Amino acid sequence: MKRCPACNAKYTGKRLCHRCKNNLGDLVDIEDRARNHLKKATEAFASDNMREMFFHAKRSCSLRRTQEATKLLAYAALLVSQPGVAMNQWTLLNDQ
Ligand SMILES: [Zn+2]
Repeated sequence: MKRCPACNAKYTGKRLCHRCKNNLGDLVDIEDRARNHLKKATEAFASDNMREMFFHAKRSCSLRRTQEATKLLAYAALLVSQPGVAMNQWTLLNDQ
């Protein structure tokens, strides 16, 4: 998160927005969980566990869709023989 979604103030890394005092904690937690699933997907790939990679890549994308997470999900989908899912992710990437 780069800016507060409520007032557009620059995000300073705290759980409360410095300008409007909105609680950003839940959003920060969701981003952390998405990052954690992305890391686990990468670790699963390194361990040759493609099913686990696919699971964590999907979770990461469902929590927060980033280009990195979308690419990883597309690759993971190919590795578990789900070309339809991979194509959908690839289409989303090219539409961003
Ligand atoms: Zn704010």
